[in-house]
Amino acid sequence: MKHSKKHLIETLSAPLIIFLCVIFATVIISSFVLESVTASSNTDTPSIGYTVVIDAGHGGLDPGSIGYKTKVRESDVNLAISKKLETELKKAGISVVMTRTTEEGLYGLSTNNYKKRDMAKRREIIENARPNMVISVHMNSYVKHNLRGAQAFYDKNSEISRKLALAVQDQFASNLEESDKGVSIGDYFMLKCTQAPSIITECGFLSNEEDEKLLLSDAYQNKIVSCIVAGVLSFLGIAE
Ligand SMILES: [Zn+2]
Repeated sequence: MKHSKKHLIETLSAPLIIFLCVIFATVIISSFVLESVTASSNTDTPSIGYTVVIDAGHGGLDPGSIGYKTKVRESDVNLAISKKLETELKKAGISVVMTRTTEEGLYGLSTNNYKKRDMAKRREIIENARPNMVISVHMNSYVKHNLRGAQAFYDKNSEISRKLALAVQDQFASNLEESDKGVSIGDYFMLKCTQAPSIITECGFLSNEEDEKLLLSDAYQNKIVSCIVAGVLSFLGIAE
C-alpha cells in the first residue's frame, strides 16, 4: 500500500507530540523545583559555622518577675525577645538552638521539684548543641522602682564569658536607655552549667514603669536584639 505524504506526517506526529509533552512537563516541573530551592536559599542565610543557644528564662509555673504596672510575666517578654533574637542571628548566618519556644517550662508533666528539672533540661539542651556561646534572656526587677537599664552578667571564673558580656554591654551602653553601668558578675546556674561562653542579658527592669513600657514595645525589643546581635558578631570578630 502506498502512503500519501500527509498520512506519513500524521503517523510520525503522534509519538512526537507525546515526546514534546513529556519535555514540556519536565521543564515546568523543574522550574517549580528550582524556584522553591531559590526561595528557600533567599530566606536562610548560609551558615557561617557558629551555633548560639538562646535561653528564654523562666516559663510555665515560673513566671519570673512581674511587670510593675501591667503585671506582664517576665517569662513571656523573655520569649518574645528570644524569638526576635533567633530570627536576627539566623539572618547573620548563625545557627540557633532555643531552650524553649513556647510559654511552657521545661520540667515535663510533674510539677514536683520542677525548677531543678527545668534547669537540668536547659543544661542538657546546651550540652547537645555544643554551642559557641549561650545567651540567656531575662528582665530584671528590684524592690525599689527607680532602677533602670540593661546589663550583661557573667560568671567570675570565665574570662571568655566576661569578654562576651563586655561586647554586648558596650552595645547596650550606646543604644539603650540608662544602660551604661557596665557588666556584672552573676552567680547563676545558667552561667556555670557550660564551658561555652555564657551570659545573662537582663534587658531592663520590669519593676520600673518607664522600662516596663519600653520592654513591651516592639521597637525597643528590636533595639535590644540589635545590640545583642552586634555584640555577638563583635565577640566573634565578624564585622556587620
Ligand atoms: Zn529572670
